[in-house]
Amino acid sequence: MEINGHTRLIGLIGNPVEHTLSPVIHNNISKRMGINSVYVPFQVETEGLQDAVKGAYELNVLGMNVTVPHKNDVMESVVAIDDAANAIGAVNTLVRVEELHGYKGYNTDMLGLQRQIREDDVSLRDETVVILGAGGAAKAVVYMCLLEGAKRIYLLNRTLPKAKEIAKGMNEAFATDAVVPMELKSYTQIEEDKVIVFQATSIGLSPNVEQVVLEDKAFYKKVTVGVDLIYNPAETKFMQLVEEAGGKAYNALKMLLYQAVIAYELWHDVKVPKDIIDEVYVELKRRVYKKDNIVLVGFMGSGKTTFGKACAKSLSMEFLDADEYIVKRAGKSIPKIFEEDGEEAFRTLETQILQEFSKNLCNTVLATGGGMPLRKENARLLREIGRVGYLTATPKEIYERVKEDTNRPLLQGENPFGKICDMMKQRKPIYEQVADVIIDTNSNDMEAIVEDMKVHLRL
Ligand code: NAP
Repeated sequence: MEINGHTRLIGLIGNPVEHTLSPVIHNNISKRMGINSVYVPFQVETEGLQDAVKGAYELNVLGMNVTVPHKNDVMESVVAIDDAANAIGAVNTLVRVEELHGYKGYNTDMLGLQRQIREDDVSLRDETVVILGAGGAAKAVVYMCLLEGAKRIYLLNRTLPKAKEIAKGMNEAFATDAVVPMELKSYTQIEEDKVIVFQATSIGLSPNVEQVVLEDKAFYKKVTVGVDLIYNPAETKFMQLVEEAGGKAYNALKMLLYQAVIAYELWHDVKVPKDIIDEVYVELKRRVYKKDNIVLVGFMGSGKTTFGKACAKSLSMEFLDADEYIVKRAGKSIPKIFEEDGEEAFRTLETQILQEFSKNLCNTVLATGGGMPLRKENARLLREIGRVGYLTATPKEIYERVKEDTNRPLLQGENPFGKICDMMKQRKPIYEQVADVIIDTNSNDMEAIVEDMKVHLRL
């Protein structure tokens, strides 16, 4: 996106801000939607918070996100406040309101979690909920649970007074007594035998991945759904315990994504389409889970193995050929799999190994089979595994590279050159859609091609 005289600025204010993922989300949405705005983090000290918000308005900044430690204090600097943000006592989004000559404060964390659970078909209506933790995030969870019609909400915290304070405020706001504060260690007093749990403590956050706030397996037998607000690691110990006991478990990376999408929609007065949200989610996952792999797609003979190996060597990465992996797994050659089981069975095998790779692969250059991205699910998985490079060459060059190779089932028979032309034409848009970058290999200049890959395919 070209920055020009029309570019609108959006900022994040917090301290520290270096590790924020928000620019990845917002700038990606702008790029994909062709909206001329740029998102930049600003480190702001508490003493300068009011000046920062005033200054942002005078600089015509379209909107801001607010993060730790300013989510409460910033409420003094807004000209209006959304009801939910007011009740939660925290603002994470500022939306410019010209008529009021200032910003209105919202809490999109709460709305993000609401959108996540709705999308996952988790209904809280008339359910019993247990919230572990009573910090800043837990407040938004309690509010969301009340909004979604939970029957009873046990708010468990190590420090009871904090849970009591939140429960009092929320019960008053909703004119209810549904929120019950409890000390964490009193969890055995919960009588209901089916509960939905939100894990809102900081226990289990990477690198302390072995830790969990409640160890007792008997507790997890009650849990039908467990949502961990922590998203790194992707599967926390809490989630493992929920799943081992037979419940469904989710992390809250989507909450992070949706709080941003909702803020983006408020700032720009647009609806972000689902396919763009899905694309941004893939990018976000790659960043959070440091999927530092390189994935190469392209027609047979485009150089995925040759250039892939050289690139892996040059970057001290592992190299993996997906077709070779499948042959080992199936215990037979690819022509044999096609002949005995059919193409559909082969594509299913591809999906299975990509699912494995999306969980386990790291620091690897993955060369894929030519038809691998044909299935939508495979294309999605490839993008999840790493940055995707589409290696291209002309049909003539491809033909020269593969004409002696008898191990290519799709090229047997008459007029292989014609088949190459047809198939390349058919597959080009599919490769282009899955790729982050297109790399021309016609030159056969190993050094230049590897350099190109190194520059464009690293995270
Ligand atoms: P916070 O205000 O610092 O609260 C931390 C909570 O963890 C408190 O309830 C605290 O209990 C509890 N806790 C800490 N150490 C504990 C221990 N050793 N034993 C028992 N409880 C302990 O943090 P927060 O802002 O609420 O965030 C909580 C978690 O949610 C964090 O991991 C954060 O990453 C995550 N989060 C995720 C998203 C998302 O978009 N997915 C958004 C916001 C937050 P005490 O009150 O007794 O100290």
